[in-house]
Amino acid sequence: MEEQMKIVETIQDLRSHLKLERVQGNLIGFVPTMGYLHNGHAALMQEARQANDVGVLSIFVNPTQFGPNEDYHTYPRDLERDTEIARANHVDYIFYPTVEEMYSTANSSVSVTVHHGTDILCGKSRPTHFDGVATVVTKLLNIIQPDRVYFGMKDAQQLAIVKQLVRDLSIPVEVCAVEIVRESDNLALSSRNVRLNAQERIDAICLYQTLSHVRSLLDQGYEVEQAILFGREFFNKISKLGQLDYLEAYAFPGLTQLQSEDKQGLLAIAVQYENARLIDNMIIDF
Ligand code: AMP
Repeated sequence: MEEQMKIVETIQDLRSHLKLERVQGNLIGFVPTMGYLHNGHAALMQEARQANDVGVLSIFVNPTQFGPNEDYHTYPRDLERDTEIARANHVDYIFYPTVEEMYSTANSSVSVTVHHGTDILCGKSRPTHFDGVATVVTKLLNIIQPDRVYFGMKDAQQLAIVKQLVRDLSIPVEVCAVEIVRESDNLALSSRNVRLNAQERIDAICLYQTLSHVRSLLDQGYEVEQAILFGREFFNKISKLGQLDYLEAYAFPGLTQLQSEDKQGLLAIAVQYENARLIDNMIIDF
């Protein structure tokens, strides 16, 4: 019979549970999230559970990765619903700490700073975001000490930065990437999609359509810069309600300017709607 899923709120409790798991030789797969779970998160949980003996899911809306005018306070939250989804995906432990538990020391003075890849794409309009992500991911990896950690390609810039973080700080964990899960009309699943009104929800397919348009131009032999310029025009034609934040391409996973010798590029888009900023991307093979 399957063990009951446990919801653990303190670092100390989680550490003692996971110590016992490790003593038994169990491999630990970890999925960090901010909750309000959907099928994208479920894909991560399933991979974590399949490849490891124990699945740990964290639900923590991390204040340090939100800027002062961002949606930290209104970020959607629903623990009851999340618990059901986690249970259905055979998660063994939900780590659900409070902000005080994660950032208890009022006089804390150490955090992680990311030096590369943070002044482009989402980092441009969210200048402190990736330092907040890197700090909380480091803390979570130190608390859980998983064998594998799972991130979605949906947040490709985050994934590239986390891979670099793990390499640079010699954190002993395997970082696993999971493909983007989409709605039937190809809108990438996101916890923030609930903030779109009915018209915006229809309009939002323009993210994927714009990425596909650029990809088809590249397939036809257009240079990247030209294809992106056409892509921006295309977006402005098809979207009535979204404001294009960026449509850009960088080398992946290096996040450097594309050079002719690069084999893989990240084509990424961000669009602001009234109450939600949406992102999406495609990997382009050259
Ligand atoms: P979040 O709760 O939005 O911070 O996301 C937690 C993890 O789920 C991140 O690694 C995301 O990249 C991943 N994720 C979010 N949406 C999707 C999606 N549509 N497909 C795959 N992974 C996703």
